[in-house]
Amino acid sequence: MNAFEYAAPRTLDEALAVLGEHGDEARVIAGGTALVTMMRQRLVRPSYLVSLREIAGLDRIEAANGGLRLGALATHREVETSPRVRERLPVLAETFRRVASVRIRHMATVGGALAHADPNQDPPVTLIALGARVEIRGASGRRELPLEEFFRDYYESALEPGEVVTGVVVPSLPAASGAAYVKFLPRTADDYATVAVAATVSLEPDGERCRTARIALGSVGVTPIRARAAEALLAGQRVGADLLRAAGESVRGAVDPLSDHRGSAAYKREMAAVMAGRALTQAWDAARASVRGTR
Ligand SMILES: Cc1cc2nc3c(=O)[nH]c(=O)nc-3n(C[C@H](O)[C@H](O)[C@H](O)COP(=O)(O)OP(=O)(O)OC[C@H]3O[C@@H](n4cnc5c(N)ncnc54)[C@H](O)[C@@H]3O)c2cc1C
Repeated sequence: MNAFEYAAPRTLDEALAVLGEHGDEARVIAGGTALVTMMRQRLVRPSYLVSLREIAGLDRIEAANGGLRLGALATHREVETSPRVRERLPVLAETFRRVASVRIRHMATVGGALAHADPNQDPPVTLIALGARVEIRGASGRRELPLEEFFRDYYESALEPGEVVTGVVVPSLPAASGAAYVKFLPRTADDYATVAVAATVSLEPDGERCRTARIALGSVGVTPIRARAAEALLAGQRVGADLLRAAGESVRGAVDPLSDHRGSAAYKREMAAVMAGRALTQAWDAARASVRGTR
């Protein structure tokens, strides 16, 4: 690992100033689970590390407009175990629970999981299916964008030099909705997904027809992918097992997996269809249960 200087500013403004001063030489560090490995492998050689860990309040998990706001410095374990997350969006707690080992989850942060832009990560998939927006701060101010527009390419995000992710805002699910996250990993329980799918299904009050559905997939392309054609097959339709299976099948056309040690591209494409059908069925079941619960 190369030699580097280290700063742990106490305010975001101070952190942004240090990042601005050192330009390309500086890098933000949060949990360090990815960055330290990349530095050890000499994939990146920052001469200045700016830690976010001393910035008060950046780790907050709070209610926001009926939904949730996760601060960038909240750890995966904090999201997984937060009573607020479990109550409002249990699918999010479950998704963070599926990340690696408890040791990694105690270190890795929400902001790190987004800024790292690794398409094999779990949290972005469910956050996209839930319609989350990412909050970004830079020297010139604050901006926000839908999370699905944040991921640009393999390990590449929309962050401009000197910008920091400050949090992610997750809307609540409408009434009569269900959500599910399915992580397919045939190797070991702490591995990255071979294929991951998150789905939400919102039903009309009759509990039969689908109002909207959202489907996002991970590990099947250079970024997380939203399967809009499959979503369109469901919107406005009377839902049943056959339609859910057909929607699952149609994700084959949306994904573009890479062959690697977790499987060939063809295998991942097949598994994406199977897992999408499974995630949609689970989300539909949960939506119907919520309709029954209100009657
Ligand atoms: C062995 C292992 C297994 C793993 N398995 C999984 C898995 O199965 N599923 C999964 O989802 N994840 C998994 N992870 C975690 C994941 O790959 C990343 O390591 C983690 O999400 C990065 O978070 P961090 O807070 O540690 O980021 P860091 O390592 O601190 O930073 C990562 C990158 O993001 C930048 N960054 C960090 N925070 C910010 C911010 N707020 N604003 C701007 N830039 C920022 C850094 O500059 C760096 O480029 C695993 C990690 C390890 C080490």
